[in-house]
Amino acid sequence: MNAKLEMTPNEYDAERVWRDFPILRREVHGRPLVYLDSAASSQRPASVIAAVDRYETFHHANVHRGVHQLSQEATDLFERARARVRGYVNAGSTREVVFTRGTTESINLVAQSYARPRLQPGDEILLTALEHHANIVPWQLVAAQTGAVVKAAPMDRRGVVSVTDVAAHINERTKIVACAHVSNALGTVLPVREIAQVAHDRGAVLLVDGAQAVPHQRVDVAALDCDFYAFSSHKMYGPTGIGVLVGRERLLEEMPPWQGGGDMILTVSFEKTTFNTLPYKFEAGTPNISGAVGLAAAIDYIESLGLQKIHAHEQRLLESATRQLAAVPGLDLIGTAPDKAAVISFTIDGIHPHDLGTILDAEGVAIRTGHHCAMPVMEFFGVPATARASFACYTRESDIDALVHALAKAREVFG
Ligand code: PLP
Repeated sequence: MNAKLEMTPNEYDAERVWRDFPILRREVHGRPLVYLDSAASSQRPASVIAAVDRYETFHHANVHRGVHQLSQEATDLFERARARVRGYVNAGSTREVVFTRGTTESINLVAQSYARPRLQPGDEILLTALEHHANIVPWQLVAAQTGAVVKAAPMDRRGVVSVTDVAAHINERTKIVACAHVSNALGTVLPVREIAQVAHDRGAVLLVDGAQAVPHQRVDVAALDCDFYAFSSHKMYGPTGIGVLVGRERLLEEMPPWQGGGDMILTVSFEKTTFNTLPYKFEAGTPNISGAVGLAAAIDYIESLGLQKIHAHEQRLLESATRQLAAVPGLDLIGTAPDKAAVISFTIDGIHPHDLGTILDAEGVAIRTGHHCAMPVMEFFGVPATARASFACYTRESDIDALVHALAKAREVFG
C-alpha cells in the first residue's frame, strides 16, 4: 500500500461523491446496494449520464461527414473528447489517440496491425504471469498466425512481477513485451516505467494494458515511455463500448489499417485506396460518438475530484479492508503485493467463491467471483476462483463494514 499520499480524511468526502452516482441509491433484494465490483465495471455519475443524454437530445449526427450544423457539433464534441483523453494521459498529440471499443480491441489492434506483419517464426512475445485474457489471447492468435512464441515472466507468491524477472526473459528474439499496469485479479501495480526501459534496451516495444490503472492513479504515457497504452472507458466512470489505444506516432504511422471501411480512407477506387491520416486510419466506420462524449465527461468528473485524492482515498480503504478481512477466520488473501491498487481477492475455507458471491448478493453486497478472466493466475495460486472486492471513488468505509458483516453471515450459513 502506498503511504506516500497521506491526507487528512476530511479532504475527501466519500458520502458526497457517493451521492453523485444515482444507481448507488437503489436497493437489491430489499437491501441497500453495496457495489464492490468496480474493477469489472464502475458506475457512472449523474454528470456523465447527463452529458450523454444532452448529446443524444441535442447534438447527434454522424461525424466527419456533414457540412450541416448537427454534424459539425457532433464532430466537435467527438474531437474535443479525443483532446480530453490526450490531456488525461499526456499523449504527444491527438494523432496518437485512437478510439476503439475498449482495452480488448486496442490490444487486438496492436497484435494484428503492429505485430502480425513484423513477427517471424521463433520471435518471442513476452507477457507476465498475471495478465487478463485480453492481454494473452490476442498474442496467442498472432503467434499462431506467424510462428512466434508467447512467453510469460513469472510472479512470486505475493503476486509481484519484478523487473529483474522481466529482464531475464527478454532476449534478442523478443519483439514485444505486453504487461498490465495493474492486475485486475490481484491488484498488483507493475513497475511499468522500468519494464519499458528493459524492453527498449533489447529493442522490443512495450504495450501496457492500463484498464485497471487509469481510474485509480495518474497515468503519464510520456513519463512511462511505453509504446502502446490501452484502456476502457467503462472502468473509469464512462460508458461501455468505447476505449482508447494510445500509440507512439512513429509506430502508428508505420502500421497498416486493421479494419477497412468508411472514415479511414482518403480516396477509394476499385484499383486503389489511400488511407486517412492518424488517428482516423484506425477508426473504420461510424464511431461510438456518444461514448466518446461520455468518456470526456467521465474525465471531467475524475479531475473535478482530483486523481490524487481518489488514489489516497482508495488506498485508505484498501488498507482498512485488508486489515479487517485478514481477521476473518479461514480467509486467505490472494495477492499481497506491497504496491497494490484498490482490489482485494480472497478465498474462505470451506465456502466456494460462487456460493459466497450468492450469499453476499442476497445481502445487497455485489462482489465479483470467478477467475476474473485471469485463469493462469488462478492456476498459479491453486484455486478455481476467488472472491474479489474492488473499490472506486464512491466506495465508503461503511461499504467495507457491510462486506465484513456479510462475510460473517456467510460463515454462519456454512457453519
Ligand atoms: N485488461 C484488464 C486488466 C482488465 O481488467 C480488463 C477488464 O476486466 C480488460 C483488460 C478488458 O477490458 P474490456 O473488456 O473493457 O475490453
